[in-house]
Amino acid sequence: MITSLTAAEIATKLRTKELSAPEVTQAYLDRIASEDEKYGAFLAIDGERAMAQANEAQKQLDAGTATALTGVPVAIKDNISTEGIETTCASKILKGYIPPYDATVIRKLSEAGAITIGKTNLDEFAMGSSTETSAFKLSRNPWDTSRTPGGSSGGSTVAVAANMAPVSLGSDTGGSIRLPASFCGVVGFKPTYGRCSRFGLVAFASSLDQIGPLAKTVEDAAIISNVITGHCSQDSTSIPDSQISISDLKKGSLKGMKLAFPKEMYGDGTDPAVREATEFALDELRREGVEITEISIPTIPLGVTTYYIIAPAEASSNLGRFDGVRYGPRSEGQGHIDVVAKTRADGFGHEVKARIMIGTYALSAGYYDAFYLRAQQVRAMMTQQFNDAFKEFDLVVSPTAPVVAFPLGAMSQDPMQLKLLDYCTIPANMGGFPAISLQAGFAHGLPVGLQLMGPQMGDEKLLQAAFAVERVFETQRKSPPIP
Ligand code: GLN
Repeated sequence: MITSLTAAEIATKLRTKELSAPEVTQAYLDRIASEDEKYGAFLAIDGERAMAQANEAQKQLDAGTATALTGVPVAIKDNISTEGIETTCASKILKGYIPPYDATVIRKLSEAGAITIGKTNLDEFAMGSSTETSAFKLSRNPWDTSRTPGGSSGGSTVAVAANMAPVSLGSDTGGSIRLPASFCGVVGFKPTYGRCSRFGLVAFASSLDQIGPLAKTVEDAAIISNVITGHCSQDSTSIPDSQISISDLKKGSLKGMKLAFPKEMYGDGTDPAVREATEFALDELRREGVEITEISIPTIPLGVTTYYIIAPAEASSNLGRFDGVRYGPRSEGQGHIDVVAKTRADGFGHEVKARIMIGTYALSAGYYDAFYLRAQQVRAMMTQQFNDAFKEFDLVVSPTAPVVAFPLGAMSQDPMQLKLLDYCTIPANMGGFPAISLQAGFAHGLPVGLQLMGPQMGDEKLLQAAFAVERVFETQRKSPPIP
């Protein structure tokens, strides 16, 4: 079946003419049409446009000018701007907003001949860990549709896990690519901060946001990364490209690799079954010759508190631009201030409002030093402690999440619990480190993700290691029970 292939397999079959680009795109559009009602992965589909792109891709394939992604469909998180396709961030405040330009990553994907298959559901403005704060729909985990796929890139993850796209783009501010990857048993990769241009990504917390791929395999994640990374003149924080060699990717070896396991990564909320699955996975790696050393990184338990000051602070400023004047729907009111206030009151959901208030508070005169400044100090200290670990060890390993996918609604009354889900993923955003989540086992019959983190700009080394680790778990790897 076409839709169960990886991106690399599709690309090969397109080049050998075993498949055609329109045939591939049509297969995904058909599958979305018949299956997505169950999963709620997509917010917008433009089938005609996708087919037009597929026909163009076929011309490149016929002319022999194809790249590694020509004709491959990619699903896009709906906080990434797509010219001519509604981009809502799953918020009522952007309902009907059609961007007049493409994000840099989208431009790069189309230049490479990839097909935009659709826009995917997320937590409103990517604020959340379960995709339940979306103003429009619930997304469901293909392993068990009564459970959350995780978030905030829930739709992009479900699209890949349920074979509605071979690969997709997500964004990761505190774990939003890796957490759903862990919950849905796929690969989720957050590159080093700055490797992908953020131009056209609707900003949440600019010092933490990073775009990255969700995929079935590490190889696919690397292929997509190669296309979307690189310096872009419209994002001054983007760094010059260093491509990942796909042939070297496959040469990585586990023998003699030195991994550090920070003992603080098992926080109080770690499910014992997740801990057991993680220990089992680590033992398997040891048998392959990996040296795993337990270390201490004392700032890890401060990560969630620190993140939930810095991220809302940046969000409170970034979300100031949604005023009903420039984008999206506008509420009725008396005069400018009233119109803006009503538009924001009607347009933003509860979680977003809470973050704007917390962020504004943390930045206000008198509280700035007590909250924001101290959070930045902890962030610097945490980055330093991880940098020290990377001097001695190749990578840091941990579970991706303290628990497995939970039933929808189970945590909606408990915002603290929900935020603690980001416990293991936040450090990578704090320090701008690259990190990847891989399916490494099961607990309660649901996938458990293993997270590997590398030093800044260590993306290639990280992906090589991840590729080798993926081989170790290959025989136990399972796919969700989907039709
Ligand atoms: N769950 C975190 C939050 O709610 C992370 C979100 C993200 O990475 N976009 O902020």
